[in-house]
Amino acid sequence: MQLLFELLQSFGELPEELVIYLVSLLTSIIIGFAGEAVGMGFITRAINNGKGRGGGFAWGFWLGLIGIIVVACRPAKKANTTDRSGDNPPPRPDALEMMAVDSQVWFCPGCGRPHYSTESVCQCGVYKK
Ligand SMILES: [Zn+2]
Repeated sequence: MQLLFELLQSFGELPEELVIYLVSLLTSIIIGFAGEAVGMGFITRAINNGKGRGGGFAWGFWLGLIGIIVVACRPAKKANTTDRSGDNPPPRPDALEMMAVDSQVWFCPGCGRPHYSTESVCQCGVYKK
């Protein structure tokens, strides 16, 4: 704050009241922006948490409205439900991506989840045959 004072005074012989006014004006603007950034951070964190993701504060804090748009447009994290029904639910949507990198992808006979050939046991407890 002292630095700001000296900076303003170096511009010329400003009346002290004006310098004090300008400093307090600048201070409130800075605090206002900081407060807004924190508010935006809380908004993006709330959106992120609503999508099942952790964190997200930095998006709004640093990018403001842009961060909110980014967080709002990101897809929700897939729910990590453990399916023990034993039926044949459709494979996870990323099965094709997995097959693209691993031709030996296997599907769990218990729940139908796709697995890389390096995985030997499914989340549902069924072992690879
Ligand atoms: Zn399984």
